[in-house]
Amino acid sequence: MSSPATQLAVAPDGTPAFEGTLYIGGQWRAASASRPVLNPADGSEICQVDEASADDVRDAVAAARRTFDAGEWSATPVSERSAILNRVADLLQANRSQIARIETLDTGKTLRESEIDVDDVTSVFRYYAALALGDPGRLVDAGDPAVVSRVVHEPVGVCVAIGPWNYPLLQISWKVAPALAAGCTVVIKPSEVTPLTTVILAGLLEDAGVPAGVANLLLGSGAVVGAGLVASEDVDLVSFTGGLDTGRTIMRTAADTVKKVALELGGKNPHIVFADADREAALDAALTGVFLHAGQVCSAGTRLLLEDSLHDEFVAELVRRAELIRVGPGLDPSSEMPPLVSAEHLAKVEGYVALGLQEGAKLLTGGARLSADQAGYFYRPTVFAGCSREMRIVQEETFGPIVTVERFSSEDEAVFLGNDTRYGLAGGVWTSDRARAHRVAGRLRHGTVWINEFGPYLPQAEWGGFKLSGTGRELGPSGLAEYREAKHLYENTAPSAQHWFSGGASA
Ligand code: NAD
Repeated sequence: MSSPATQLAVAPDGTPAFEGTLYIGGQWRAASASRPVLNPADGSEICQVDEASADDVRDAVAAARRTFDAGEWSATPVSERSAILNRVADLLQANRSQIARIETLDTGKTLRESEIDVDDVTSVFRYYAALALGDPGRLVDAGDPAVVSRVVHEPVGVCVAIGPWNYPLLQISWKVAPALAAGCTVVIKPSEVTPLTTVILAGLLEDAGVPAGVANLLLGSGAVVGAGLVASEDVDLVSFTGGLDTGRTIMRTAADTVKKVALELGGKNPHIVFADADREAALDAALTGVFLHAGQVCSAGTRLLLEDSLHDEFVAELVRRAELIRVGPGLDPSSEMPPLVSAEHLAKVEGYVALGLQEGAKLLTGGARLSADQAGYFYRPTVFAGCSREMRIVQEETFGPIVTVERFSSEDEAVFLGNDTRYGLAGGVWTSDRARAHRVAGRLRHGTVWINEFGPYLPQAEWGGFKLSGTGRELGPSGLAEYREAKHLYENTAPSAQHWFSGGASA
């Protein structure tokens, strides 16, 4: 079977027609079972993909293990590995529009956002291609001229990359690019809800010259494929992005084999606006912060904290603008906010809105589907005011286009509410007082804090969570360090017996 990347090239309309979507030991493979992939914009079936079995899991791990243990990939000069990663980046750009179209069909997100995702993923591959080149290890002064002591970095081994449905290509790439740069082998498992662009990525890795067995792809459920990978004794590291409960399960299972675990979990991200903020910019960021991708963003600014004196005017304008957001299919260029990913997720969001009303939050706009008889999973931008910290809609990750508004009257209260979450992924603070901005940012217990901004991330800067938002970091130098073991090489260039034990020494 040819690679899906090749198939993409002969299907310029971008319609996926995959055949054999598991990639194991350099071979594309079909499975006996399959799963439909649905279009969130109308609920229609886009295509079927293979559903891996427990045997496929064993085969993929065995291929990754064998390939790693053979040592050729980790011994490949870093410059060659780096060149391959750059070729992946070139191929991503060469196929940018088709990949973006398929990401939109699969996730529902707007085409504009899918294109940005492809560009961001390209930058991540280029970043790790460059970063991998600059690791000479570290000389250590042992305090003895006869000793040469050096710390070197070696690949962790067989890694598993498990991704979520909201940013499928992006989140998987944050794992695959550094893992390959480090010299690891990988088994990739995207979300069963949105697997398509990861199939393409596996094809691009093959086309870029990643050797057989180095990158393997399994599609399928968390219960069979994900859990099977996490439990495997032949896997050295699991890097997971997804929900808190799944992260907990993974950490527990991984304890049996003491494998390394990196977790990127959920967030409940405070967006703090002081009265002296640039109102237009803060309003704009408040809207984008929560309604981009219909709020299906781990770092969405769903918990808006407004200073008392600004509150009423800000909320009124937020509601006015939320009502103007054009909700529609991601492929329609006029759409600004896409549908939710699935019927199941729509039901979850509807449940949170009902809960908010029950808890006494004041629904100012939204709180309903775009149209009850529509086939797609469209939901209106929703604003709840009069919220308080004990409400579950304020504390739990709703993962939909829902913003809850609370008020504060002092800097201390803003910081208290900003940290009043079990999560710690991201937060934002708006003020024209730079000293205050940095004071507040310094006190917020979140992995990323934006000042007079909300949302951007950089391949060069670490991304990850405090508290229940996870362990470890992706992106930046730490994102590569996750996939490396440090090894201390201690060489005595003038060995002599020390005779710690006095008996038996030859005369
Ligand atoms: P999820 O936890 O339901 O699924 C994520 C992945 O885990 C899927 O591939 C799934 O098949 C797999 N999985 C499920 N059960 C498993 C098990 N027992 N063992 C191994 N794998 C298993 O999450 P989701 O609904 O796909 O994604 C949404 C969540 O992801 C949100 O909570 C969001 O905040 C989080 N997220 C976090 C970040 C971040 O950077 N921190 C980024 C994106 C998404």
